[in-house]
Amino acid sequence: MSAREIARAVRAGERSARGVVEESLAAIAERDGEVHAFLLVTGDEARSAADAIDAAVADGRDPGPLAGVPVALKDNLCTKGIPTTCASRILEGWRPPYDATVVTRLRRAGAVVVGKTNLDEFAMGSSTENSCAGPTRHPADPSRVPGGSSGGSAAAVAAGFVPLALGSDTGGSVRQPAALCGTVGVKPTYGAVSRYGLVAFASSLDQIGPLAASVEDAALLLEVIAGHDPLDSTSIAQAAPEVTASLDVGVAGLRVGVCDELVEGTAPDVVARVQQAADALVDAGAHVTRVSVPEMRYGLSAYYLIAPAEASSNLARYDGVRYGLRVPASDVAAMNVATRTAGFGPEVKRRIMLGTYALSAGYYDAYYAKAQRVRTLLIEAFSRAYEQVDVLLGATAPTTAFPIGERVDDPMAMYMSDVCTIPSNLAGHPAISVPFGTGDDGLPVGVQVLAPALEEARMFQAAAAIERAAPAPGSGTK
Ligand code: GLN
Repeated sequence: MSAREIARAVRAGERSARGVVEESLAAIAERDGEVHAFLLVTGDEARSAADAIDAAVADGRDPGPLAGVPVALKDNLCTKGIPTTCASRILEGWRPPYDATVVTRLRRAGAVVVGKTNLDEFAMGSSTENSCAGPTRHPADPSRVPGGSSGGSAAAVAAGFVPLALGSDTGGSVRQPAALCGTVGVKPTYGAVSRYGLVAFASSLDQIGPLAASVEDAALLLEVIAGHDPLDSTSIAQAAPEVTASLDVGVAGLRVGVCDELVEGTAPDVVARVQQAADALVDAGAHVTRVSVPEMRYGLSAYYLIAPAEASSNLARYDGVRYGLRVPASDVAAMNVATRTAGFGPEVKRRIMLGTYALSAGYYDAYYAKAQRVRTLLIEAFSRAYEQVDVLLGATAPTTAFPIGERVDDPMAMYMSDVCTIPSNLAGHPAISVPFGTGDDGLPVGVQVLAPALEEARMFQAAAAIERAAPAPGSGTK
């Protein structure tokens, strides 16, 4: 059942929230031993939240637009009194004293949190293999990765454990796992969704976004979590975009640019699906052209200076004093070193070293400042493209889901997984990944729609049209 159908049935008193939640918990109990989407299942809390929803319905009180809908949260979203680990040893035992704004809004909307999902440590990675708790497996092929870093959230939706989940997207971490698992994934405009209570990775790039089985459910979830929040100084002072209203608008007259840089270098079976999606948009009345945004080619390099630089600063707070793990040593400095040495995994250490180097005196201008100038060039290039087209279309990820272990010893190959998603983060623009058939290996392919800042409605208009035209799973690429 979709989130929309569940909420409708619960609100109408046709189904109990408790019954829905029990089904979700049973599905998790049955199969998550294999998939390992969850780091923590909060069964007791979920049952009492569901009972409260049912009581509201019985009393004639409004239980909210997502009444009784089970939702999974990436474990870098703060949940009051409930462990939040970021899949890192350094946060072992830490319980946040507050809920993230998105969590508060979900609860207020009647959604029921069933657990916290696995991720790459501090959201650094593209496969969910960089987790101190071990990898999540792809629900359709357990020998493969689900993508990352929100791999647990994507797998939880793809496995049918929950209809909705939240992830975070700094360079593609919602959209790339969504593509690999065959779910919808959204990276909203920077500032559209509050980051209050999202454990910071790279603050100028981080956004929280929905994962769902359909474009409509993703739109419903976005409307609940978006909108101004005074607790986040980068939150945009406007209401949530009304995206559900644009789903049935169609694409007649919409100008769509198939972006060269988002298809070049991607696998032929993925390119074929992007082309097929473009053809479907033509059939639906859109004007489809080819567009080039050459500055996108510098995106990956700029990202791998900016993101580690911000991470090295954000992660300085894990000093063994304020959060989680402490490894005792002879004095404070030695304790800091011992704690960070034991608490962080190898990828996080690599990012801290890269970032510290890029920010150090004498290198700042050559690296960090230069990367920021590339970011400005990219934004200007996007603006020129958006004079010609309303949205851009391309691949979400260069390949389908890859085998577990294939890219762990090759950071560059892993980093390349996000080459198509990173430009939107650098620009602060919204983007969505929509499942569109499968690759030659029978695994899901996602196509990506990119839009200018705050043009989520237009983006959802195109995404809904692509979803309507999507080939049935398992049909060939020709
Ligand atoms: N894979 C990218 C990285 O490792 C993006 C991660 C993200 O979006 N959180 O930095």
